[in-house]
Amino acid sequence: MTANDLSAFDRDHLWHPYTSLTEPLPCFVAESAEGVRLRLQDGRELIDGMSSWWAAIHGYRHPRLMAALRAQADRLAHVMFGGLTHEPAVALGRRLLALLPPALCRIFYADSGSVSVEVALKMALQAARSRPGGTGRTRFLTLRGGYHGDTFMAMSVCDPVTGMHGLFQGVLAQQLFADRPACRFGATWDPADTASFERLIGEHHAELAGVILEPVVQGAGGMWFYHPEYLRRVRALCTHYGVPLIFDEIATGFGRTGKLFAMNHAEVVPDILCVGKALTGGTLTLAAVVCTDAVARAISADGLPFMHGPTFMANPLACAVAAASLDLLNETPWQASVTRIEDQLRAELEPCRAHPAVADVRVLGAIGVVETRRPVDMAALQRHFVGRGVWIRPFGRLIYLMPPYIIAPGDLTRLTDAVRSALPLV
Ligand SMILES: *Cc1c(COP(=O)(O)O)cnc(C)c1O
Repeated sequence: MTANDLSAFDRDHLWHPYTSLTEPLPCFVAESAEGVRLRLQDGRELIDGMSSWWAAIHGYRHPRLMAALRAQADRLAHVMFGGLTHEPAVALGRRLLALLPPALCRIFYADSGSVSVEVALKMALQAARSRPGGTGRTRFLTLRGGYHGDTFMAMSVCDPVTGMHGLFQGVLAQQLFADRPACRFGATWDPADTASFERLIGEHHAELAGVILEPVVQGAGGMWFYHPEYLRRVRALCTHYGVPLIFDEIATGFGRTGKLFAMNHAEVVPDILCVGKALTGGTLTLAAVVCTDAVARAISADGLPFMHGPTFMANPLACAVAAASLDLLNETPWQASVTRIEDQLRAELEPCRAHPAVADVRVLGAIGVVETRRPVDMAALQRHFVGRGVWIRPFGRLIYLMPPYIIAPGDLTRLTDAVRSALPLV
């Protein structure tokens, strides 16, 4: 099929993320990829600045990951997890727990980030039911500016303004929203920052099944980096009021912020943790929810089962490639790479601040953000970037980079040059 045939069928029949069939955005045909390079069907090569939405941390088609996938495909591609287990599920579980604080010890494998958020919220709700008066604990407290996925319970805890609350008014569960943390990562801590959270948890703790938030980095809700001290305070308040704390590390997990997990910036441990995205090194869809023994026991108090069980739970291919990705992470100096990327992003994006269209520039770990004053013309910028041989996909008022950790300095400079070159179009 020619690129034109592919594009024509795609345009007429396939949905893409957040698109309208009547007002399609530009869409390019990806043919193959290797390392940090995507190859389009017309032969053009693009340097990847997105890691396919935080996921491809080792770059594309890493030989170790592909070998793990092939070896597993030769043994067992899938089998139901009801009543059966397998080596890849156990191998991944061991590796995951080795990276986490010992209190987090019970793993539920889910098929995507959104589903893992559903599972985490359901865990908190089921755990609440075993407490006296627990059936009244049906709400969640979260932060403005958050993003937790596109399924219904996940949408209910996304930012009420930029999320889909308006669209699904009357359908979404009514949650509680504390102000977005104002104190930036790296700034002096201002104890007033948690005032809104403290007030809400103080007034509503008896109705709460849990608190959910993205630690340190709010991703798709605004690419905002806040002070880790906020998390220490939230942890203390959740413990004080006996409300389980859920961290959504789907975007931040596995090194992206400079620590293995963003929660490590604060040395705080949640009761329930969600990971996804980079878990398989961007190869297959897989997420995991890890909870404490106390949460697991509360859920199972009267011998009740935890009521969730996806058909493709713990898919062996996904688990095998995830285990290989974690081994690779352990064996490579990812922290040095992320620090190098952070320094370079800071040096090369900071000059953007002088441009009148730019409201803010911020960098943390391997995440570089240029926030513009007005929403960008996504279609125009997308074409501009592809024309310059880079893959960068802005949204709203955000042009951002989160390249694979293996990116070479020269390639990273091509990405930051492209961002700067786009500012006159904003
Ligand atoms: C992407 C993301 C999700 C949703 O994950 P999907 O795999 O897209 O369903 C949830 N929370 C955060 C923080 C995310 O970045």
